[in-house]
Amino acid sequence: MSPQLTRGAFVPFQFAVRLAMPPPMGLAADMAWFLRAVPLGLCATLVLGGCVAGVAPSAGPAASPISGAANTALASGSPSPVPPMPALPGSGPPGSAPSASVPPSSASSFPPSSPGNPGSSPTQRPSPVLPPVPKAPAEPAVRFPKNEPAVGDGANAAISPIPDDVWASMSGYSWTKSCPVGRADLSYVQVNFWGFDGYRYRGAVVVNKAIASKTAEAFATLYAQQFRIRQMRPMDSSWGHNPKGPGANDYAAMEADNTSAFNCRYVGGEESRKVWSNHAYGYAVDVNDFENPYVANDGTVYPPDGTYFRTHRGAAPGVFSGASSKAAKAFTSLGFTWGGTWSHPDFQHFEVAR
Ligand SMILES: [Zn+2]
Repeated sequence: MSPQLTRGAFVPFQFAVRLAMPPPMGLAADMAWFLRAVPLGLCATLVLGGCVAGVAPSAGPAASPISGAANTALASGSPSPVPPMPALPGSGPPGSAPSASVPPSSASSFPPSSPGNPGSSPTQRPSPVLPPVPKAPAEPAVRFPKNEPAVGDGANAAISPIPDDVWASMSGYSWTKSCPVGRADLSYVQVNFWGFDGYRYRGAVVVNKAIASKTAEAFATLYAQQFRIRQMRPMDSSWGHNPKGPGANDYAAMEADNTSAFNCRYVGGEESRKVWSNHAYGYAVDVNDFENPYVANDGTVYPPDGTYFRTHRGAAPGVFSGASSKAAKAFTSLGFTWGGTWSHPDFQHFEVAR
C-alpha cells in the first residue's frame, strides 16, 4: 500500500440529504424544494452523526467514516478547478441507491434518445446545458443511455458504504465468495457527470475504500473539465455474468461504454491465466470504455466495436488523448497509473498500486 493510501484521521465531510424527489425546475419550485432541503441540510451539517445514524440503517458492519482527504481535496485543496461541494442539496446517504431518488414517472419523462426539446411543456425536459456531442464515426448501440439526473450543484461527490440494494445486485455477479476483497473493503462513490447529450447526470462506481477519496476527486475534476461520460453504473446483475470467467459481464459493459470500477474478474481477454484484475480488488477504474478501448496481450481490441478509437486517439469528447491531457491528469495527478501508456494500451484504465 502506498503512502497516499494510508487512511489518516477521518472526519465526515459531506452527508448528503436524500430528497424524496429531484429538484424541480422554475423559481417557485426551486424555492419550495430549497425549503424542503434546508431542515435536512441543517440536520446533516449540524448534527452530523445523529443524522447519519438515523438515515443509514442498512449501512451494516461495512460502514466507515468518510475520508477527510476527500473533503479537503474536493472542496478547496485540489490543484484543479474543482467546484466546492455544497452542503445542500446532497446526494444519497449511506444505505440508499441512486435509483431511489428518481421516481419512475420522472425517469420515463426523460427519454434517453432525446438530446433536448424546446421545453414547451412542463412535463418536458429542459434543454441540455452543454451541446450534445456530435455523432462520431464509431459509437455504442445506445448513444444517450438513460441515466439518473444530477443531484445538487457541481460534481457533488459523496462516499458511503455499499448500500444494501447495490450489494444485493452485485452479489453473485461482480462479487462472489471467492473474491479477494469483501463488502467492508469497498466504498460507493456517487458523483455528477456530463452526459454525451449535454445533460448533468449522477453516476456511481464501487471502489476499494482505500482509493475512494481520490476516485471522487478525479471524477470531480472531470466534471469541472466538462469531460463527457456516457454512463456510470456499478457492475452488477444488470450486466449479466461474465461469459469467460467470474465476475459481471465487462464485455457488455465495454460495448455499452459504461464507466465502472470494482468487478471481481480475471484480467480481461486472458481469463485462462486466472489472474485477478486490479478491478477485482477495487483498485482500478475504467472510464468511457468505448472511446478508450483495451488492447489485450494477443492484440485483440475490446470492445470490438470501439476499434476505431484504437488508432484515433486525438482530442474528442470522452477520449483520453494522451498522458499530458488534462483528463488523464485528473487521475494521474492523484497517483493513478494510466493504462494508455502501456505497450498493450488500456486507454480506459486507471489504477492505483495495491
Ligand atoms: Zn480496467
